[in-house]
Order: sequence, then C-alpha cells, then structure tokens
Amino acid sequence: MSKIMAIANQKGGVGKTTTVVNLGAGLAEAGKKVLMIDLDPQASLTISMGFREPDKLDGTITDIFMKVVNDEVIPEGYAIHSVAERMDLIPSSIDLSAAEVSLVNAMSRELVLRSYMERISSNYDYILIDCMPSLGMLTVNALACAGSVLIPVQPAYLPVRGLQQLIRTIYTVKRRLNSALTIEGILFTMVDRRTLYAKEIVEEVNQAYGGTIPIFQMVIPMSVKASETSQAAKNIYDYDPQGKAAKAYRELTEEVLENDSEERKGAF
Ligand code: ADP
Ligand code: MG
Repeated sequence: MSKIMAIANQKGGVGKTTTVVNLGAGLAEAGKKVLMIDLDPQASLTISMGFREPDKLDGTITDIFMKVVNDEVIPEGYAIHSVAERMDLIPSSIDLSAAEVSLVNAMSRELVLRSYMERISSNYDYILIDCMPSLGMLTVNALACAGSVLIPVQPAYLPVRGLQQLIRTIYTVKRRLNSALTIEGILFTMVDRRTLYAKEIVEEVNQAYGGTIPIFQMVIPMSVKASETSQAAKNIYDYDPQGKAAKAYRELTEEVLENDSEERKGAF
C-alpha cells in the first residue's frame, strides 16, 4: 500500500511542518518507507531536515515541477535526498514561488505533481506533503494527488475560522480533480490545556464538524521542546523522547497506522 497524505492549512504557524517531521519519523520508526515533500517556498521542512542552505541544493521540488511542465525526462531518484533510515526528502527552495506563477499557463496545471507521483509513489508506504500556507496552485496540486489530507489547527479563534474555507477547497478538489480524496482528520496543535479558551474552541469544532469530518481525539500540546526541534534539526523523539509532545506524536502515528489497517480490512 502506498498512501499520499497532504498536510494542509492556509494559515501559517499551525504546526504543519512540525507534524510532517514527527509523523514522518514515527512512521519510519514503525518500519514504513517514508517520503516527505516540501511544497513550501519557505523551505522550513528542508531546513529542519538539516539543509541549512536550501537554495544551493541540486535537485528540488521546483526542478521536478519545471521538468514535468516542460516534458523533460526525470532521471530515477532525481531530487530525492535520503535524510534518515527509511526516510527520503524532496526539498524545496525559494524559487518554488516562481514555479507556481509559471504553472498558470501550463496544461493540466493542477495535475503536475500527480503525474510525477504516479511514477514514484509505489516506492514508498507513506508520502507526506508539507503544504505552504495558501490555497494556491501548489496546494491544489498536493490535494489533487493525495489520498487524504490532515489538517493541523491551533485552537484559537482566527485559525479555526479559516477551516471553513479550507474544507470548501478540499471538497472542490474532490469533486473536480480527485474523487478519492478524504480527510484524514483535524489535528489540534499547540494546545495549552490550562486555558479554558482552547478547550472551548476544541469543543466548538467538535460540535460543528464532528459528525462529518474526523477529528483526532488526541491533541498535540504546546511544548517549548517541540518549538526547539526545528532549530536543532531533530525530530521530537530524538530531542525530548520522554516529553509530552513526543508522546502525542507517537499516539498520532499509531492512530494513522490504525486507520490505515482498518481501511484495508474494509477493502477486502
Ligand atoms: P507551519 O508549518 O504550519 O507554518 P510549524 O510546524 O513551522 O507551522 O510551526 C510553527 C512554529 O511553532 C514553529 O516555530 C514551531 O517550532 C512551533 N511549534 C510547532 N509545534 C509546536 C508545539 N506543539 N508547541 C510549541 N511550539 C510548536
Ligand atoms: Mg511549514
């Protein structure tokens, strides 16, 4: 089985990249072969994987987009960098924004990433796509090739308001481009359990969407250690193995693996 999961939210700073890093590491730890794709020109994922100067990298997701659009041959393994055992990365770079602009005139511009994924996805158990904070053409490309989308949300008023627009986009993509797309779940991140406010918002989202959209019942707590990991270029299990964020990301990994084994059972 190979599963492509987009981690998306048009709001920045909600924990998308952190979730890709730690879910990716968790899945690899569980024996799965994982590919992470950095689809954000800010290249936070690439940097947190230890590539301090992403613009000097040879072979990035930008090159792949350009080659697909220009119908050029892409050599086997091109732009795929091994970052840990069972973990590969296709990095990003700042010129990805320019590539996004040039997509506007491309044929089948929403399906560029999908056509590349069709070639390489069978090499992996999981492909996690770290989306940029917008609902533009790159995010649509991710949604158009994904089997599911995981939505990290911070339980605060404004980020939650943005959910509606995101969910609308997901359904539009599902209707027009990718009928197989499902929502993996809404994941609350950076939750400060001490505040009543966060609790109220979690409750509100549960009431508004709980019947129609899966919501992970475990939440990722606010954690200083978690915020230090990207600078340290480490995942949370290496950086603070006993901490509450590591525990939460372990639980998330298990839940994702469990969902998939249930889906497979259902399919037979
Ligand atoms: P996004 O990719 O959605 O922009 P990031 O994953 O980059 O979000 O997270 C935004 C910031 O919050 C980063 O500085 C990150 O280190 C920090 N952060 C992420 N998760 C947590 C957490 N659970 N607790 C505290 N800080 C966090
Ligand atoms: Mg990010």
